[in-house]
Amino acid sequence: MNTFKLALAAIILQTGTSFPLNAQEAPNQIFSNGKIITVDDYFSIQEAVAISGDRILAVGSNAEINALAGPQTNIINLEGRTVIPGLIDNHNHVVRATEYWPNDARLDGVTSRAEALNILKAKASTLPAGEWLMSLGGWQESQFADSKDDFTLAELDALASDRPVFLQSVYHHIYGNTTWFEAMGIPITIAPGSSETASDLSEHVVRDENGKVTGRLNGGFPMITKAITHFPSVSADKQAQGTRAAFSYLSSIGLTSVFDPGGVGIKQESYTRLGELAESEGISVRIFHTLNANVPATPEAADALVERIQTTLPFQGNEMFDLLSMGEIYYGPFHWDGVIDPATPTPEDIEQGRKILTAAAANAWPTQTHAMQPETMDILLDVMTEINTEYPLRQLRWSVTHADNVGISQIERARHLGMNLQMRSISVLGNRGPLFEKFGEAAYDMPPLRLVQDSGIPFGLGTDGTKANQIAPFVTLWWAVTGRALGGEVVMKQTLTREEALIAHTRSNAYLMFQESNLGSIKPGLLADMVILDRDYLTVPEDEIKDIKAIATMVGGNIVNGSL
Ligand SMILES: [Zn+2]
Repeated sequence: MNTFKLALAAIILQTGTSFPLNAQEAPNQIFSNGKIITVDDYFSIQEAVAISGDRILAVGSNAEINALAGPQTNIINLEGRTVIPGLIDNHNHVVRATEYWPNDARLDGVTSRAEALNILKAKASTLPAGEWLMSLGGWQESQFADSKDDFTLAELDALASDRPVFLQSVYHHIYGNTTWFEAMGIPITIAPGSSETASDLSEHVVRDENGKVTGRLNGGFPMITKAITHFPSVSADKQAQGTRAAFSYLSSIGLTSVFDPGGVGIKQESYTRLGELAESEGISVRIFHTLNANVPATPEAADALVERIQTTLPFQGNEMFDLLSMGEIYYGPFHWDGVIDPATPTPEDIEQGRKILTAAAANAWPTQTHAMQPETMDILLDVMTEINTEYPLRQLRWSVTHADNVGISQIERARHLGMNLQMRSISVLGNRGPLFEKFGEAAYDMPPLRLVQDSGIPFGLGTDGTKANQIAPFVTLWWAVTGRALGGEVVMKQTLTREEALIAHTRSNAYLMFQESNLGSIKPGLLADMVILDRDYLTVPEDEIKDIKAIATMVGGNIVNGSL
């Protein structure tokens, strides 16, 4: 080994250890005797970590870190447990979900229909009289291994007969109990073969041969959008309560940061309320969000958005709550893009999209754009390539979000513009029949995680929850590593290694959110966001990854959920 190589080796050996930011000051917390998966640039594994205030002071061996302790240092023995950086979901519509969170029974990662019914029943028993029992998406019957049958009216009534029950199977269909149908003014039984129009939802009601409701309503996204307008209204106090409950749930599943992309049905008021809560009492999950409101669908509405882009500034918040991007849908007719079919914008629609994106580039806004099919991405990349000749985009780190069916030519075009991809674990819910029908074996390459990983383009993992997908990060990591859906079937052949998946759910997402000097790894100088696990992510049998639990979740040096 020559001298240069020796010097380099010495530097690499040292990267795990580090020196206090302020040598006079002892850390206030030390976590030792652990397996610290740092997810630093070397993916180094260490034994101990020292924390000073809200930041990591040093990472290294037990001896190195313990030597930093002062008389006031609180030393916690990890007893061999595994620690990872706080997990980051790069695409989770959680702010929208805070309104009804207290009513919402989550079925994230549940693989048994019987267990789902137990969870729903248990939730009903915790609700005050008259409050709706809801389960607002994030699940689909296809995820249940024991039975994929519809819920029956008898089952729905058994969950609760004294309150409305509203269950939403992703964006596909819904169920109501008898009390809900009555509240909607929809008759339970009508003459067989006849029709009724008492409610705007009547046309979607599925009835049996005797004209009685089955509990189910079909009609996908448009039907669900209508159904939501009948929900009870939510006061600011109730939403604050919902926010606390939602964030405590996110902490319990190991999430410490979320990139929230607005979404259809989001109210601007929800962000205002959240900002006030973050200011007044603090929040326990870091929320980075986008500039959004009702999705513009006309040139006039597009002009109004352009004005907001010109008169609002990103990056004016702090490390807990900040506005830092525009999207994910900013012009309905330009970008609406299904899982099966590409978007088909007219030249006029493309013009409106170009107008909004140009304003974003001219005013230094990061953007994220919902797109799934290669045809849609090519339209988008044509526009962006042109904009780039006037306003260089690289520094803005524009994202294509979902990109389920991205190809190598789109990846290369996007990489050339300094863009990145936000990939999602939506296929973990199963129900891929229509996709296989359309694309055949190629559906196993959606999303092409291996291609994306090996291409070198920056990308991260997220979910697209809370309605379109489940939101548990260990379920997403398990899916990325195994390629399986919760129901057990293989849905994706382009899998990642455990290390690659963890990097994509932590450090890479920090980069996508411009937070690489704050988040994503356990290394000196970064904020102390960590999750202490009940088993070792790197060595546990592959199928157990989805069952890993957070014993304790730390945000900025504070344990926000669980205990040690
Ligand atoms: Zn989307």
